[in-house]
Amino acid sequence: MMQTRTIHLGPLAIGGASPVSIQSMCNTDTGEVENSLQQIERLRALGCDIIRLAVPSAAVLPAFGQICDRSPMPVIADIHFDYRLALGAIDAGAAGIRINPGNIQDESGLRQVARAAAAAGTVVRVGVNLGSLSPRMEAQYGRSAEAMVQSALEYCRFFTEEGCQALKVSLKASSLPLTVAANRQFAAVSDIPLHLGVTEAGTAVSGSIKSAIGIGSLLLDGIGSTIRVSLTAPPEEEVRAALRILAVLGLRQNGPELISCPTCGRTRIDLIALATAVEDELARFAAAGRKLPWRKIAVMGCEVNGPGEARDADIGIAGGKGKGLLFKHGKIVRVLPESELLAALRAEMEAASQASDRAAP
Ligand code: SF4
Repeated sequence: MMQTRTIHLGPLAIGGASPVSIQSMCNTDTGEVENSLQQIERLRALGCDIIRLAVPSAAVLPAFGQICDRSPMPVIADIHFDYRLALGAIDAGAAGIRINPGNIQDESGLRQVARAAAAAGTVVRVGVNLGSLSPRMEAQYGRSAEAMVQSALEYCRFFTEEGCQALKVSLKASSLPLTVAANRQFAAVSDIPLHLGVTEAGTAVSGSIKSAIGIGSLLLDGIGSTIRVSLTAPPEEEVRAALRILAVLGLRQNGPELISCPTCGRTRIDLIALATAVEDELARFAAAGRKLPWRKIAVMGCEVNGPGEARDADIGIAGGKGKGLLFKHGKIVRVLPESELLAALRAEMEAASQASDRAAP
């Protein structure tokens, strides 16, 4: 594996020694500026670093430009088929564009895109999908990992010849082993940073598993500079899943570990919603760079077994019938109405974080 070059997507460094970045994609109408920015802000607060928006027509370019101006993170334009949309997005201030040269047939148009991106310092992500290989590549290498790699290398040469150095590549196939093989082969021969993702991964559970295996295998090999967990689910779920993958691999510190019980017949509260809310709160703390002096936080379904089962957690909450408990190291410290459990834990997190900041040298 080669060390990749470093490129800059707006202010964000990608590749080289930079941390792996999380990307997601808005599912809002790009023409709706405020709606899109609200979603971008929610994703940023959870730990997303890069946002991609569809640019399906020239009509959305003015709105896209406003989003680029006001977004708290670098914006990538997702372009298909029409090189003029790529030119428009570069002009509108996109930090990056994602194109699949295989589905843009106009070579002189592609050349214009390369020149415009080079002049503006816009990152170009060259996306190669097994499904849209050129007939020439397919005839020479078959529908194989090698065909994807050779195709990506050829497109990268094309862009480099026009002055584009800020390149990223993604290689995707609906077969997971083929996707992993193609990325490994590319990383062995090129220093261009790779964006990892598993295409058409599926719904939240099956897609997260598929992505964790594919993206996780490559990250374990030291391959991959940006990741997106593509899910048939709200983009917030994509960011949560990506964070979990990076946290499990020790590539991103996400604060204390959240432990929660599997629920059983004793559970009398909406534990899934509660655990998700606590997880989001932890992600927001981590995204804001705030520290907590704890190793584990527990969210348990019942007061009978919860505190005892989670006694190695620094702090936790346990549900009861209409009431709940706040406990520390297995000892109950407060009994309060169930509706106040989350707020009480948040207040503890706030106080602990502030104390930790004061104690820091
Ligand atoms: S903590 Fe309580 S609710 Fe959760 S699994 Fe154990 S016994 Fe069931």
